[in-house]
Amino acid sequence: MPDRPDEQPNDPTQQRHSNRLVSDQDVEDADDILFAHPPRVVRRWLCGCGADYPCTDVRFALLVKSTAEAGE
Ligand SMILES: [Zn+2]
Repeated sequence: MPDRPDEQPNDPTQQRHSNRLVSDQDVEDADDILFAHPPRVVRRWLCGCGADYPCTDVRFALLVKSTAEAGE
């Protein structure tokens, strides 16, 4: 097989240098990253008292309840 790097772009040792800011490999990596990191809508829970749910009071109450249930 003749050594023709232009037709062997998959061989990392044969990658050409280019004047572009990013290489084809960088763009490929970016695609992979964007595919693996889609944006997600996160629903925020707010407690009735205005703090993030569960607030410290709720966490304490849940701890008491679970401890009481475990002791039954
Ligand atoms: Zn609360």
